[in-house]
Amino acid sequence: MQVDHSYARLPSQFYQSWQASPVEAPNWLAFNQPLAAYLGLAKSEQRTELGLQQFAGNSVPAWAKPLAQAYAGHQFGQYNPQLGDGRALLLAEVIAQDGKRFDVQLKGAGPTPFSRGGDGRSVIGPVIREYLVSEAMQVLGVPTTRALAAVATGQNVYRDEPVPGAILTRVASSHIRIGTFQYIAALGNPGYLRQFADYVIDRHYPDCQQQDNPYLAFLGQVVTKQATLIAHWMRLGFIHGVMNTDNTSISGETIDYGPCAFIDQYQADKVFSSIDRRGRYAYSNQPPIALWNLARLAECLLPLIDADEKVAVELATEALQQFQPQYEALWLSQMAAKVGITEPSPADKVLLDDYLHLLEQHQVDFTLGFRYLSDELRPAADSKAQALFANCTAFTEWRERWLTRLAQQPLSHSEITAQMDGVNPLLIPRNHLIAKAIEQAQDHGDLRLFQRLQQAWQTPFASIADADLIAPPKPEEVVHRTFCG
Ligand code: AMP
Ligand code: MG
Ligand code: MG
Repeated sequence: MQVDHSYARLPSQFYQSWQASPVEAPNWLAFNQPLAAYLGLAKSEQRTELGLQQFAGNSVPAWAKPLAQAYAGHQFGQYNPQLGDGRALLLAEVIAQDGKRFDVQLKGAGPTPFSRGGDGRSVIGPVIREYLVSEAMQVLGVPTTRALAAVATGQNVYRDEPVPGAILTRVASSHIRIGTFQYIAALGNPGYLRQFADYVIDRHYPDCQQQDNPYLAFLGQVVTKQATLIAHWMRLGFIHGVMNTDNTSISGETIDYGPCAFIDQYQADKVFSSIDRRGRYAYSNQPPIALWNLARLAECLLPLIDADEKVAVELATEALQQFQPQYEALWLSQMAAKVGITEPSPADKVLLDDYLHLLEQHQVDFTLGFRYLSDELRPAADSKAQALFANCTAFTEWRERWLTRLAQQPLSHSEITAQMDGVNPLLIPRNHLIAKAIEQAQDHGDLRLFQRLQQAWQTPFASIADADLIAPPKPEEVVHRTFCG
């Protein structure tokens, strides 16, 4: 395996070299063999005794130089100058088969200098959730961190009660966050800030180096990456839950799966997270919050963008103003594709908004409300879409407008259905299924449902699947609240 430690070559103020704390009796929960092969991990370090000890933090791999990264961040709008990896350790950067560089990080491997009184541990539930959801997001076409391994520690961790501890090994194109820039900008050393920005540009956005103003170009590219990411979340009904600036990746990947969840019954202002009492990170708030977070990044970059602060603010503001039009264009094209419209015009937004209102009014499942719509275009199909709406006239009226719009395209109904079924998943990581898998693993040591979900969610666009994996939760199964780890 080809490894590097470029982060460790940055000024030592940016991180702390550190070691994992050993655990008593590690045991496998999951191992991602295809990802391990892609990264070039030696067979002897995969699902082996050596691999288990390494992914449990009991043995430091020969290729690792573990460190905890420093960062700051706005948490629910409040600035915290000192966060950092309180329970994570970067082992190394791995250069994969195709030359791409990835951080390999243990999450839950014990306290670090950034733990702020926390125990440095993760628990089995959030580890299973992150494993399932991040791997599903990858297949759903959303930029995301990946899950390489999950191990149980054999030790309890104390939350409100004792719960089994676990460690996730996470793979990301980097763990550099907006909060990392906030931390380094706050060190008050302009040389450090420039050095770090140059490092990040070289690692993630190298073509900015050729631009007249590389730092402004960098801001612009991060804006585009975030607009792209949020459009993906919105098209799938995904709610991140904790969009703090320390959970916003510079590379534009979904990172830090905490109380995240997919919407079942559509509700625009839906919130799951138990700690998000005011709905700051509600589904519909995700685009403006992403922009708010980007403004915090822009503030850090001002001294690099122009020596004259007034000029720098003007340029940064222009870059930030690109977010909304870019996001709207991406939203329109992706949402239009969900209803079979291939070249949307701005007028199609009304049709889409009206459909979302219908879903909300009639308490229809977001995923199936889109997936089953293609039934309307299949001859003699027993339409599952009409059943979702209980054959109401509001749906029939909307359907007429929609069919009229589709008729303007030079595409047959079978071409349109094929395209719709390729973007509307039949299966998503539903909360109640994740909750069941966690319960069975945690209370009975039974990993079968966890494994079945891993497998099923690798083919979310399949035309058939087990009914219990397709169905929205029954009233008694609905998960109303999700929790951080
Ligand atoms: P998160 O909510 O996971 O994004 O974490 C926010 C901050 O709290 C980060 O600095 C984490 O490293 C830290 N943190 C979260 N849980 C723990 C824990 N159990 N022990 C130590 N630090 C933690
Ligand atoms: Mg240091
Ligand atoms: Mg975090």
